Amino acid sequence: MFESLTDRLSGVFRSLGGRVQLTEENIQEAMREVRLALLEADVNFKVVKDFTDTVKEKALGTLVMKGVSPAQQVIKVVNDELVHLLGGESTELKLQGQQPAVILMAGLQGSGKTTSSGKLALLLRKQKMKPYLVPADVYRPAAIEQLRTLAKQLDIPCFDSKADMKPADIVQNALMDAKEKQCTVVILDTAGRLHIDEPLMQELRTIKDIAKPQETLFVADAMTGQDAVTVADAFNQQIGITGVVLTKMDGDARGGAALSIKAVTGAPVKFVGMGEKLSEMEVFHPDRIAGRILGMGDVLTLLEKAQSTIEQEEAEALAKKMQKAKFDLEDFRTQMKRMRSMGSFESILKMIPGLGGIAKQLGEMKGHEKEIAKTEAIINSMTMKERRNPDIINPSRKVRIANGSGTKVQDVNQLLRQFDQMRKMMSGMLKGGKGKMPPMPNM
Ligand code: GDP
Repeated sequence: MFESLTDRLSGVFRSLGGRVQLTEENIQEAMREVRLALLEADVNFKVVKDFTDTVKEKALGTLVMKGVSPAQQVIKVVNDELVHLLGGESTELKLQGQQPAVILMAGLQGSGKTTSSGKLALLLRKQKMKPYLVPADVYRPAAIEQLRTLAKQLDIPCFDSKADMKPADIVQNALMDAKEKQCTVVILDTAGRLHIDEPLMQELRTIKDIAKPQETLFVADAMTGQDAVTVADAFNQQIGITGVVLTKMDGDARGGAALSIKAVTGAPVKFVGMGEKLSEMEVFHPDRIAGRILGMGDVLTLLEKAQSTIEQEEAEALAKKMQKAKFDLEDFRTQMKRMRSMGSFESILKMIPGLGGIAKQLGEMKGHEKEIAKTEAIINSMTMKERRNPDIINPSRKVRIANGSGTKVQDVNQLLRQFDQMRKMMSGMLKGGKGKMPPMPNM
């Protein structure tokens, strides 16, 4: 969605690229271009003026830097100011305080509130929270059913709202039910209207008084550009918002809303909707978006996405193996290697219900590099067949493995014994049994 802005800006930077020195004059000229590019992207007029004024001032103030080309210097200043404009580091949800935490979703009809409520629940569950959904829109026919269907699809508890209930009663009862179900975060999907009107604001204020949400997220359709910003501002003045969910960023919106909302309302964009599917919502990272706008690519988001799918698939495969007690030394070795490189075995185990304790032990194991190296050396000295079927490791094989790894037969015995215990325990835990965890091999 920022393509044309990116094109325009890279043109500006290219023209600065050839300069040996930056003067007030050519910075001024560049800023004129930046201003046009931002206005064309539908960024709020005042925001554009403040932005270019600040960049100009800072770019001039840093002219003495050595070893950096003038163009790079300006890009750096523009990048920093873009990050600031997009919300700086303030975009994380703040859910401390009362339990369950409450997130109130507000916005106009059709902005994507209900869809975003479902998406947010899914995202928070991935972050190990236990979400609970509340349909409190009793006016739009089918709104309750829509959220209920999403909840069912996601297997997330949802309050059984009825169209003839008062929203305030729905919220009160839902909070009690969520508490009873030990959910950790409640997402309230409220009613939207086509325009802002006083009864709607009054209702939101009442719901806010009852629910005391830690976060009040305004859901805005990015395609509506500056209108979204104006409405966000009005909601903020009337009920107070703590953040924005910008939906339909997959469409051909020019980016003006994303770039103006924080500066106008003081509330940062916290999430962006990137499609109609429930998985299509992303945490909004100002630094990455700034990088994307400046054409530096959004490598981090890509990497993170790849990482989380791989881990989820791996966790599922491992859980299956463990359940059948088929988790063998080869699997263990693979995970140890990964753990050393990025600590991921721990996070994978955490995704398997019931194995949090083992994950914790592995976390503690990180300090024991020597022991880990020894364990790895022993496993490395085994043949693939032995790793897959540790039962075939007879005394003569043990001697060979010990010699190969520079350890003693006792070490090999200890590892095999502990691994066997660990495997049984994992399988027992996954089948619902209880028991104390044995120590990890060689710990
Ligand atoms: P509500 O009235 O605010 O609750 O809006 P809905 O959640 O019902 O969404 C209105 C329409 O926008 C639906 O057709 C959604 O599928 C669609 N929608 C919501 N979020 C996104 C998004 O991020 N991208 C796209 N392309 N469509 C979206």
